Amino acid sequence: TDIKPFANEPFTDFSQPAHRDAMKASLERIKQQLGRKIPLHIGSDTIFTDDVITSINPGQTDQTIGLVSKANQQLAEQAMQTALETFEQWKKVPASERADYLFKAAALMRQRKHDFSAMMIMESGKNYAEADADTAEAIDFMEFYAREMLRLDSINETQPLTPVAGEQNRLTYIPLGVGIVIPPWNFPLAICVGMTTAAIVSGNTVLLKPASTTPVIAHMFVELMEEIGLPPGVINYVPGSGAEVGDYLTTHPKTRFVSFTGSKEVGLRISKLSADTADGQIWIKRLVAEMGGKDGIVVDETADLDAAAQAIVASAFGFQGQKCSAGSRAVIVQSVYDEVVRKVTELTGKLSIGLPEDNYPVGPVIDQASCDKIMSYIEIGKSEGRLLTGGQRAEGNGYYIQPTVIADVKRDARIMQEEIFGPVLALCPAADYREAIDIYNDTEFGLTGSFFSKDEARIAEALDVMHCGNLYINRKCTGALVGAHPFGGFNMSGTDSKAGGHDYLLLFTQAKLTSRKL
Ligand code: GLU
Repeated sequence: TDIKPFANEPFTDFSQPAHRDAMKASLERIKQQLGRKIPLHIGSDTIFTDDVITSINPGQTDQTIGLVSKANQQLAEQAMQTALETFEQWKKVPASERADYLFKAAALMRQRKHDFSAMMIMESGKNYAEADADTAEAIDFMEFYAREMLRLDSINETQPLTPVAGEQNRLTYIPLGVGIVIPPWNFPLAICVGMTTAAIVSGNTVLLKPASTTPVIAHMFVELMEEIGLPPGVINYVPGSGAEVGDYLTTHPKTRFVSFTGSKEVGLRISKLSADTADGQIWIKRLVAEMGGKDGIVVDETADLDAAAQAIVASAFGFQGQKCSAGSRAVIVQSVYDEVVRKVTELTGKLSIGLPEDNYPVGPVIDQASCDKIMSYIEIGKSEGRLLTGGQRAEGNGYYIQPTVIADVKRDARIMQEEIFGPVLALCPAADYREAIDIYNDTEFGLTGSFFSKDEARIAEALDVMHCGNLYINRKCTGALVGAHPFGGFNMSGTDSKAGGHDYLLLFTQAKLTSRKL
């Protein structure tokens, strides 16, 4: 078979009118579908419930995106039984066939790219470029993990065994069982698709519990998988509350693994719950958890200060700072501090705020709870430093907050230590680049970071000592690409998994060694 080497899906250039028009057409098409009732998918059954999650547009809160049926414990149990039964068949499907489903789904998603992006614009508050990158990454994950499964399946290619005379030895990667997939709302397509398809292409079946603020885009993916002919029961779609459905499934004796992306608090709770052994459970559950970040950019006095300021602003305010990779801190060497602060403030002031479908650079944050939390951090920040710009809610019928920059913040300030997950940037001066790196490293997280400098020796030192999973030099700290920048961090940022890297599928498989005497 002729499978081309993996290459990243290109981003769309929306400065071209034709591409903008195509997105507008998709937005119109998606608007026709809003407000529908959406069922659970358990095996080949679609189940509507009276109790629903109302998904709304965070940029225009009176607009309903969908009324999403909600699982309770009984439906969750039904889904578990279906996934268990399906696993017995699915695990026997050859790896190359499983990979083919992903190739087909990637091709179809590519055809309807802007429809998927348009749905995210409406449901999650992304602008065109952020939504387009999210869809591109979803396509990348499927293309990448399909190839990864083929690689793992080619015997002895991944782990050559030492030859022994008179023996035939083989190592194969077999699936684990039923997994619970709990993706976040901030990459409501890419991360949902990546987590789900990595698990299924490895031969597992899953219960997908989408984020409660973005269940409709997740459902669009589930429908796509049905359309390309994925057997029923491989992906079961079970929206529901974390407390009722999430906890029930996490503690279920038949759950073999949990794959989670979200906050540190929820990740630690799942870690604790899934560590317990339920009656009748015959394994230790595997947990893959990708949690938060308090990422930052370090700037020394030799750096290109314009490039640094642009990267700081892009990393802090892209998708309103709602990325675990967001650069919510910048540590700047004293001799260039004032200049960088001035440039950052100027660039931030130019960011206009408004409705995502009108493609403003800055849109709303995800929901009321998030908005309240961010506003309370802004209050804390005002007492910990000097407010330079922003600091208030912005106009509009949604959860709009002004991009906010707070300067002269001390290293141990709460806004330097705690993940805010919103458009709030803390700036901190340092005596020299070594102190700046030391301040950068002073965190319980360790996800992304950047170092801006022109000095080769310092760059070498930074590469060595800045402690994070994704370390960038002279560029922004967001926007990891599948295959090129395997993504995942240290310490409280998670379980050291690397999405979009060659180690990732191993997390959803177990290796079986067979040795045959000849
Ligand atoms: N992979 C994304 C990036 O590099 C961040 C993912 C996340 O926020 O969960 O920006």
